[in-house]
Amino acid sequence: MKRMTGAEVRQSFLDFFASKEHVIVPSAPLVPVGDPTLLLTNAGMNQFKNIFLNLEEPRYPRVADAQKCMRVSGHLNDLEEVGPSPYHHTFFEMMGNWSFGDYYKKEAITWAWELLTQVWGMEKERLWATIFEDDEGNLPTDEEARGYWHTETDVNPEQVLPFGRKDNFWSMGATGPCGPCSEVHYDRGPEYCDKQHVEGHVCGVNGDCARYLEVWNLVFIQYNRDADGILTELPAKHIDTGLGLDRVTALAQGAKANYDTDLFAPILRRVQEMLGHDDKTMQEQIIPYRVIADHGRAVTFLVGDGVIPGNEGRNYVLRMILRRAARFGRKLGFTEPFLGEVAKTVIGMFGDHYDDLRRRQEFILNVIRQEEERFQRTLDVGLSLLDEIMAGLEDRGEAVVPGADAFRLYDTFGFPLDLTRDVAAERGFGVDEAGFRAALEEQRQRGREAQQFATVDAEEFELYARLLEELKESGRLGPDGVEHPYDEYVELETVIVAILRDGETVKHASEGDEVEIVLAATPFYVESGGQVSDTGLLARYQEGEETPSWEVEVSKMRQPVPGLILHEGLVTHGELHVDDPAWAMVDTMRRMDIARNHTATHLLHSELRYILGEHVQQAGSLVAPDRLRFDFTHGAMLTQDELDAVEQSVNDAILANYPLLAEHEGYQEAVAAGAMALFGEKYGDEVRVIKIGVPHDPFSQELCGGTHVHHTGEIGLFRIVSEGSVGAGVRRIEAVTGRAAQQLVQQRLGVLDAAAAQLGSQPEEVDRAVLRLLGDLHRGQKEIGDLRRELARLEFEKLLGQVQEVDGVKVLAARVHAADVETLREMTDWLRTRLGSVIIVLGAIINEKPSFVAAVTPDLVDQGLKAGTVIQRVARVVGGGGGGRPTLAQAGGRDPRRLDEALALVPKVVRDLLDGRESS
Ligand SMILES: [Zn+2]
Ligand SMILES: [Zn+2]
Repeated sequence: MKRMTGAEVRQSFLDFFASKEHVIVPSAPLVPVGDPTLLLTNAGMNQFKNIFLNLEEPRYPRVADAQKCMRVSGHLNDLEEVGPSPYHHTFFEMMGNWSFGDYYKKEAITWAWELLTQVWGMEKERLWATIFEDDEGNLPTDEEARGYWHTETDVNPEQVLPFGRKDNFWSMGATGPCGPCSEVHYDRGPEYCDKQHVEGHVCGVNGDCARYLEVWNLVFIQYNRDADGILTELPAKHIDTGLGLDRVTALAQGAKANYDTDLFAPILRRVQEMLGHDDKTMQEQIIPYRVIADHGRAVTFLVGDGVIPGNEGRNYVLRMILRRAARFGRKLGFTEPFLGEVAKTVIGMFGDHYDDLRRRQEFILNVIRQEEERFQRTLDVGLSLLDEIMAGLEDRGEAVVPGADAFRLYDTFGFPLDLTRDVAAERGFGVDEAGFRAALEEQRQRGREAQQFATVDAEEFELYARLLEELKESGRLGPDGVEHPYDEYVELETVIVAILRDGETVKHASEGDEVEIVLAATPFYVESGGQVSDTGLLARYQEGEETPSWEVEVSKMRQPVPGLILHEGLVTHGELHVDDPAWAMVDTMRRMDIARNHTATHLLHSELRYILGEHVQQAGSLVAPDRLRFDFTHGAMLTQDELDAVEQSVNDAILANYPLLAEHEGYQEAVAAGAMALFGEKYGDEVRVIKIGVPHDPFSQELCGGTHVHHTGEIGLFRIVSEGSVGAGVRRIEAVTGRAAQQLVQQRLGVLDAAAAQLGSQPEEVDRAVLRLLGDLHRGQKEIGDLRRELARLEFEKLLGQVQEVDGVKVLAARVHAADVETLREMTDWLRTRLGSVIIVLGAIINEKPSFVAAVTPDLVDQGLKAGTVIQRVARVVGGGGGGRPTLAQAGGRDPRRLDEALALVPKVVRDLLDGRESS
């Protein structure tokens, strides 16, 4: 076979099909657009699914592309294949050619053979073809395909083999499009067999050894399968083919593993260079090297398509593989973040074909660096936690880390099991892996119950797809489905074509019913690109009548399948029927509020890039009637000066009253002219560009399908209400415009006026008045503090004056003010230091109860004066008791009125004790 680089393989594939009159379309993003049933794009056909389901008209009859794909189910085990296996990848490119009701088996087979043998120069004798022969005996053998292999190609007829359903029949799902396949396999030669030593092994196509490689799969979408499993021939048959770029490139470069091709090798070399490893060291650790190469590619492309690390769905997939790569890097000896360098290499390798990668380079590197740093921090915390766990085990004489702990490390700190295992083993500990897997399974179970990805399940999708089909067949809807001129109208006259109640179509509905209504046309915007749906009314007005004969309040909009738009709402009045004429009226005040916020979002985006720099990329947005939220990439918190400058510039752009222009242009031209393309939108060849500013030199142009004001002046006032972080390198600004901004200002000014009135000052002097007040308050507090201290000193002096002598012993019994017993005790301490040899009994009312503390210096204890004894006798007077050590004791009582009486008893108690008598 001809020697080619990976890029040459890709380009020659596309060129070949362009020469066969195919339109070359760009890869769809990895984040599937308009398909809520799918986590990540995982096959070339994803972006054409709706054409196969007959939901969407194809734009061109034949296309070809190279599609970015990710295959990760989110399960730990699947990833363990990556690295050891020479051709199992998370990210890969799938090349494919497609016919939508245009050419069929003959051309697909002829062209595949032509490209493989004539353009790429694959040796004919090494190529094998397969066709479908039903092993269940129900479907006819694909003689048509076999015939074309024999008549249209010069493949050795002996090398065309039949296979059954497992290998050669394709279906999209349990129902829907399906059909036979024909594959091409490449025989790499007996030396590639990795089962030579297995007894009884025979190499074969679709066998279990590495000798034969499946190169190309041609799918003939021939049937539709209904719910009863019955297949019917499709009126328009399609071609869907796929061949992996990595695999063909490996053949073109005679590489044993995909990692040895130029689609991976530069990454491995860069890692080797950073580590300073020689070739031998690298080969010894080739598995971690490969994991980093595979995951590094995947991570770069995922972030390039706008995925940010997180804990759910595709965000979690990204976090998991990024952390896995970081951890393998640590194994190899990296101590600092290195994945940014890997990503740079990937961008260098793929940026020519996928130019988005270049445009978003700074964003990609930022996101990766921040996540890698975050992982290093949690890794350190996790490692010390594991240390603690093992120390605890050691104390108890155990040697196995419990599964629950291993799982907690995995779940909370992103510690994969093998890391825990490694670290534990270093210290001679084992890990309860069965326990870990049980805990993991339990969590998966919970995860399955709360499936986060899918907002529309497959069943619902089918229900609505069928409804759309019926509406088209009955002529109630045109071939494009519901007409949707939301950017031209806010109300229009139309017809009800379907009513649904509890997910079932009904002929009519009446007052109090919750319904979903399909109209032939609607001006209601359906949530998309961050802008929320419109709300409003549907009603029927009849000649000469004041009130409508029925009315529906629309609270929610949905488009479960392309072309089918649902108005969800409540029938507030009357009875409506299918085929009724209807006025569809958007709540225009609300629509205007939304439009103000949407246009302001574009202005904000453009001013942020102007003030903070071109690295600012939109990472998400919400455009609602009461506020707007804009997430963007930026590494640091915005300073007050920056926020002020952004706010000022947006308001300047509003006051300049620039016109807005919505233009339809080709995607490539629009992006080339500087229009900002955002993440997660699928662009047809024609896109809508919103331009703000003078038409020939707009200062803002974004690809956008939303609704906008006509001139920026309509926005009124723009006011930022908050700025904060929402994750690795992503900041969020929330702002208000128009009516909400006015309300905010009004309310703030109202508060200011009220404060001014209370301060007896003018509103513009409130800050100074408050400062003055705070100064006064501060001085007053200081004065109070001084006075308190003085008071305490005086009371202390007074106490010292109350000392009496009883038989030559100093006795102090006094009532004091104290908030708690602790204070009482402290007071006895101070007094004792001042008085030397002494017995002190202090009493106070605390929480409305009498409390006492008695302290006796040790010399007096020797004379028979024990604090506990003294205080017990004193407390008896107030109906209480207590005790403590000989030098310090405390007591409480019930009767606060007799506190003084109790204290007066102290001298007598002392005298009695000194005399060795029991006092009464
Ligand atoms: Zn073999
Ligand atoms: Zn927009």
